[in-house]
Amino acid sequence: MTTAFFWDERCFWHGGGNYAFTLPFGGLVQPMAAGGLPENPETKRRLKNLIEVTGLIGDLDARSAPSASWEDLAWVHPEAFLNEFKALSDAGGGEMGLRTPFAQGGFELAALSAGLAKGALYSVLKGEADNAYALSRPPGHHCLPEFPNGFCLLANIAIAIEAALADGLTRRVAVLDWDVHHGNGTEAIFYDRADVLTVSIHQEHNYPIDSGDATDQGGGEGQGCNINLPLPPGAGHRAYIEVMERIAIPAIRRYEPDVIIVACGYDAAAIDPLSRMLATAQTFREMTAMTRDLADDICQGRLVLVHEGGYSEVYVPFCGHAVLEELSGSSATAPDPFAETFEARQPSAAFDRFASGLIGDLAQLHLSK
Ligand code: ZN
Repeated sequence: MTTAFFWDERCFWHGGGNYAFTLPFGGLVQPMAAGGLPENPETKRRLKNLIEVTGLIGDLDARSAPSASWEDLAWVHPEAFLNEFKALSDAGGGEMGLRTPFAQGGFELAALSAGLAKGALYSVLKGEADNAYALSRPPGHHCLPEFPNGFCLLANIAIAIEAALADGLTRRVAVLDWDVHHGNGTEAIFYDRADVLTVSIHQEHNYPIDSGDATDQGGGEGQGCNINLPLPPGAGHRAYIEVMERIAIPAIRRYEPDVIIVACGYDAAAIDPLSRMLATAQTFREMTAMTRDLADDICQGRLVLVHEGGYSEVYVPFCGHAVLEELSGSSATAPDPFAETFEARQPSAAFDRFASGLIGDLAQLHLSK
């Protein structure tokens, strides 16, 4: 088994600007001595560091990829938007949309991040790798065609899909988004389309606050091809596995895609500052194994993971390591130092029954017809 691992040091140099957590500073919000936006290089770089220290990277085909071309970006983003972004980036940086500050050259770094996603998808569709992981940064799943938001400057996964469809490398794609926030950008781009299934598992009304409802099921030809699976705050390992087993996996199986792309955020983890969920590294390991087995069953194992959110500098590396172990079959290990702590804090049986009832309702809504 070959797992291609796409990364590029330059993507860690994307600048997040002067923020205090998600707030611009000023007034009574004091500037931070260090840090700034939660979306900073450390969570991603430390994952890369950990797989080097354990030797896991030796079992991966690690490489970079060309930046997404202007033509690639234009499949998703209007030329006027791209021109404005490029001009602002050339002029020293700035901000468009909401919570997406960038420094000089931010346009090129965002295009490189999209290029890593495209490279990962193409490596699998061309048979160069069995599966692939793109350590893309900045992330992409919130970005709308003309409105970057939630740290996402370009719609990485959507750009990769559109390029692959145009090149005739695939006809039918399933996107499974387990980032804790709603994949609103991917949803919006493909909402009326039947050639891309979008499935998002997220904390209900976290970000964006007003999207991700289960009743948003796609429009026109895409009716039924958008599946939102909102979970209540506090959902833990068992709820995540249950929603995968009962809905996400059967829905993708029924759709019969050529390839499965996971929008792989780690911010459903128990100590993430931007969510209130209780997933663990073991949760991400098991979700990866389930998705890998599904891909083996229905699309010759073609599976691509693209890194999205995840804001605990300490914990993201362990979650990502578990995912890459499952993808590659590597024997390198990084035992989760928080396993005992987080297992002891999983939701009660009563909460799990409550969550199970909600998941049953979602299954009824999405799979009954
Ligand atoms: Zn997120």
